[in-house]
Amino acid sequence: MAAYNYVDHQYDVVVVGAGGAGLRATLGMAEQGLKTACITKVFPTRSHTVAAQGGIAASLKNMGPDHWHWHLYDTVKGSDWLGDMDAMEYLAREAPAAVYELEHYGVPFSRTEEGKIYQRPFGGHMQNFGDGPPVQRTCAAADRTGHAILHTLYGQSLKHKAQFFIEYFALDLIMDEDGTCTGVVAWNLDDGTIHRFSAKMVVLATGGYGRAYFSATSAHTCTGDGGGMVARAGLPLQDMEFVQFHPTGIYGAGCLITEGARGEGGYLVNSEGERFMERYAPSAKDLASRDVVSRCMTIEIREGRGVGRNKDHIFLHLDHLDPAVLHERLPGISESAKIFAGVDLTREPIPVQPTVHYNMGGVPTNYWGEALNPTADDPDRVTPGLMAVGEAGCASVHGANRLGSNSLIDLVVFGRAAAIRAGEVVDAKAPVPSLNLAACDKIMDRFDRLRHANGPTPTAVMREKMQRAMQEDAAVFRTQETLEDGCKRISQIWGEMKDLKVTDRSMIWNSDLVETLELENLMANAITTVYSAEARKESRGAHAREDFSERDDVNWRKHTLSRLSPDGKVTLSYRPVHVEPQVKPEDGGIDPARIAPKARVY
Ligand SMILES: Cc1cc2nc3c(=O)[nH]c(=O)nc-3n(C[C@H](O)[C@H](O)[C@H](O)COP(=O)(O)OP(=O)(O)OC[C@H]3O[C@@H](n4cnc5c(N)ncnc54)[C@H](O)[C@@H]3O)c2cc1C
Repeated sequence: MAAYNYVDHQYDVVVVGAGGAGLRATLGMAEQGLKTACITKVFPTRSHTVAAQGGIAASLKNMGPDHWHWHLYDTVKGSDWLGDMDAMEYLAREAPAAVYELEHYGVPFSRTEEGKIYQRPFGGHMQNFGDGPPVQRTCAAADRTGHAILHTLYGQSLKHKAQFFIEYFALDLIMDEDGTCTGVVAWNLDDGTIHRFSAKMVVLATGGYGRAYFSATSAHTCTGDGGGMVARAGLPLQDMEFVQFHPTGIYGAGCLITEGARGEGGYLVNSEGERFMERYAPSAKDLASRDVVSRCMTIEIREGRGVGRNKDHIFLHLDHLDPAVLHERLPGISESAKIFAGVDLTREPIPVQPTVHYNMGGVPTNYWGEALNPTADDPDRVTPGLMAVGEAGCASVHGANRLGSNSLIDLVVFGRAAAIRAGEVVDAKAPVPSLNLAACDKIMDRFDRLRHANGPTPTAVMREKMQRAMQEDAAVFRTQETLEDGCKRISQIWGEMKDLKVTDRSMIWNSDLVETLELENLMANAITTVYSAEARKESRGAHAREDFSERDDVNWRKHTLSRLSPDGKVTLSYRPVHVEPQVKPEDGGIDPARIAPKARVY
């Protein structure tokens, strides 16, 4: 092994990631009096959370009637009854307090006439347990809500004594033989030193893995590094088959046009000029949930009613709306439409297509953010020393399909919950676990192998092969044939990873090596995604199978767990869904009869 310049650290808590989830956790950990470090591969305010546009859901009732029971119901229905009830209940109930907390931290929300937080309608959020019209629940700072939240949380984190390690790339978790996580190893991209962090608790807040696909709305940094680290530690990932396609990525570019555009009155049309969503979802129309709208668009395109020269996309109209409203409420997307599609949205429709947007699956956790390593006897067994929050985690509040604006609220509610829990389980006075040198050596062996990789295939070529396979075979609609093909292709690429070529061997700002490490992480996410999808013989939420078109609650209302062996073998097992709410109706909880499974129509 090459000689490295090691720097060792000891912390109560190390948070990996400085997006909305990581920053909310970091700030909370420091508030609990825990000595906390936050490691991030990009500058905190460059995390993907900065790109979130539409808003953050909470039943504030600022712009009409709402109730957290309605929010809970919509989330349960959106999840297609796969979400864990205790986690979804916690989310809906805590959401208003979490948004007011953000307001007090200084998030510059848009305002109503009376000066209250402005709320817009969003897909799948309805009044009166789905029986009423769309509800105005999504709190927004124009169409730059994530930007506002991320900058505010970073400012707040700096006020506390958390220490930031910026532009450090976390390589792997340090695990003890007994399965406890005791720290993480990271590479300082700027000076090439290797940092070994010993910690009583590691929190993964590394975001999603949208970049496993060819066309995604997510940043190039969304490479599922947390999932890769967890898989290499021999721990399971959960519900990886559920990948969300957002209906309105800009055709060709993939950049997002927020669902808030349809919330403000935008609508989709096909080549016949028809508002086709009225046909598929008579009540919610263009504001049906994302999986539904993406499927309807795909059907329209397949049946020859797509727009454009190749009839392969759909038009989103905003040109009927008052330009002043567009300017005030949606300034960012006006700019995106101009730059990426060359259209002036006050005059012309925007060309859009379903684009990969969010990963419902991730590291399984309970609703305190503690990572789970289930056994048949104990499906809720906790991995000591490890937590996961945000898009990297799977609590699971989004189940088989996430509702728009439910991710930003997930970040802050569960970032905070993880900090509260760490305050209970981490003993600030206890010694920090000693460094497991054997585990660290193994981590550096892998690093060395990639750094000196000298095969025939450049990383970019291998990555595109993976992205094309995922795009074609684990798409909006799936069949046994496409999924089997996907498993074959991704397994073959796994085998070819030994042929990778890294041309730069240096330790400083080596983006070639960073991308190669990221590709290994993406591959761990991609392979567990296709194998989990191939096994699930039903349609639920974002997992739409043409050969098993119905939801099958008897056999499939369960979470998929996928474990990956070093030679690329995926082993699947299953874990029951938590179906019981925790708060009793007499204490203000929801009537369980309300959230019993039924057909999901909008
Ligand atoms: C374009 C777009 C618009 C969206 N709009 C909305 C919206 O309006 N409302 C909503 O609710 N949701 C929205 N979403 C979804 C939501 O924004 C994301 O799910 C959420 O921001 C993810 O936050 P996170 O904190 O989990 O991760 P991220 O914000 O992705 O941050 C990940 C962090 O992990 C760090 N990291 C990753 N790997 C490593 C590593 N190996 N070493 C060190 N650090 C690492 C990164 O540096 C970064 O700081 C949107 C998503 C996109 C892509």
